[in-house]
Amino acid sequence: MADKNSGTTDLSAAQAAAQAGSKTEDNPIPAGTKPVEEVNREFQEKSTLKRAKELGLPYIDIARTPLNPDFLKIIDIQDAKEGRIIPFFSVGKKVRVAVDDKNNPETKKIIKKLEDRGYDVNINLASSAGIDDALDIYDSSQVYKKKKIVESVEEKDIQTYEKEIADLADLPEKLDKVTAEEGLNLINIGAMKTKASDVHFEPEEETVPVRFRIDGVLHKVFELPPKIYSKISEQLKYQSGMQLNVATIPQDGRYVFIFNKRKVAVRVASIPTPYGEAFVCRYLPAGKKFLTFEELGFQGLALKKLEKASNISQGMVLVTGPTGSGKSTTLYSVLSKMNNPENKIITLEDPVEYYMQGVTQSQINEKKDYTFANGLRSILRHDPDIVMIGEIRDLKTAETAAQAALTGHVLLSTLHTNSAIESIPRLINMGLPPFMVAPALNTVVAQRLVRRVCEKCSTLEPVSESEKNEFKEIFENLKKVNPGTEVEVPEKIPKVHGCDACSNTGYKGRVVIAEVITITSEIKDLILNNSSSVDLIKAARKEGIVTLREDGFIKAAQGVTTLEEVHRVTNVAM
Ligand SMILES: [Zn+2]
Repeated sequence: MADKNSGTTDLSAAQAAAQAGSKTEDNPIPAGTKPVEEVNREFQEKSTLKRAKELGLPYIDIARTPLNPDFLKIIDIQDAKEGRIIPFFSVGKKVRVAVDDKNNPETKKIIKKLEDRGYDVNINLASSAGIDDALDIYDSSQVYKKKKIVESVEEKDIQTYEKEIADLADLPEKLDKVTAEEGLNLINIGAMKTKASDVHFEPEEETVPVRFRIDGVLHKVFELPPKIYSKISEQLKYQSGMQLNVATIPQDGRYVFIFNKRKVAVRVASIPTPYGEAFVCRYLPAGKKFLTFEELGFQGLALKKLEKASNISQGMVLVTGPTGSGKSTTLYSVLSKMNNPENKIITLEDPVEYYMQGVTQSQINEKKDYTFANGLRSILRHDPDIVMIGEIRDLKTAETAAQAALTGHVLLSTLHTNSAIESIPRLINMGLPPFMVAPALNTVVAQRLVRRVCEKCSTLEPVSESEKNEFKEIFENLKKVNPGTEVEVPEKIPKVHGCDACSNTGYKGRVVIAEVITITSEIKDLILNNSSSVDLIKAARKEGIVTLREDGFIKAAQGVTTLEEVHRVTNVAM
């Protein structure tokens, strides 16, 4: 079986690795090939060879034949899939193809197409499993091919596109006049221009609303008539490598395009609905510059503690918060601080969100039983200094993670809790004994994202009486517990309006509000003594912490965000 994750077209190398059952350093995903499969496969190849002799056709072990992308291009990927046909050699107008059933009407159709194009077609028989493997390889070489196509969107084209979509509301009209491929390009560029993180196509009975997530909030930007939507959705499925003829089950795909000389990977997920397939496209810019803690929004005590946590040589650092609170961005920033040639860093993610140079990143694969818990165990065999795992959500993972943190590794991960201190009872409730939690845990960050006010259109307005009281209550309490804190109730705070620069949302960009707790020896003792959350909070308070809400109010007083935003993200329970 070919190793799909290697992205190589050199089948023999991938196969050799799979056969040896080895896991390369760069890709610690187990190959998952079982000896019994090997035996079955050998048997299949032998019987195919026999069948070829009977039919008087040459036999080819296509899975062991290196596939040349130039030859693959002779047949379009969709045709290759439908006709189960792989071109593997060509000179001039002569082409050798592998098929698993030369009488399959779809296969015949594609061969006829080739002949119509003037090709002299030499048919070779291959096993069905071999064709499947070769099609997978063909698929992975598509990423490369797509990149080529979209690269033709040059700087000047982008400028034209930008003018075209000056008003996104006009987009449906434009989409009616262009090819599906250009249409999807227009939507992608619209998403890039508005800095959307994802685009949602949500078909209804008579129309298809398209929503962009900008700064974490979904906005409906336009609606597509079903006729145009079907064109765009087909293109989306084709481009992301989904099965075109399947519309009743969810599918996942991926493609890459270039925007302003930067590679952007798009993860596409489809969901069947009564009115057609809905899609969510997530944009993942590559070569991303990882933000500093200050740029993310950490300040004061939280910043100091986080910087200290980035210099530890062993222990567990957790970032907590609900989905969409920017946990992984913070983890990546911690990781990029720790990323130097002396440190061996391995990550286990679901999925890999950004690529980081010098770091071995792997992705969990539930189907291959490469879960967080199993993956972490195999990662530890590679002797890393620092391990990042996407999330701790079960006891097995928590145990392995704590063990790693107790045996000289730095372990970074996320946990789904509302506050920093809650992560302690959460780990204990998962079943991790206090005697492991206490020594393993080093630092816990709880965070949310609030939107920054748009600098172009926001105005400073006097605080109302009720707002003043809110600030007073929060700040007086904060000063009581952290006497050194310099905070004042503001005279004026920002109010948002909306302009072209912020797509009329009033906000532009986001900033973290956070609370960071260092697990001091006093807190460790409390954990060991099964103390209540109240006592834990008291101890953390004594050590000096600024809570999420307090940090939010400080940022509102600084004019970075609004009180509405702070309430929006700190009031919701998960
Ligand atoms: Zn604005």
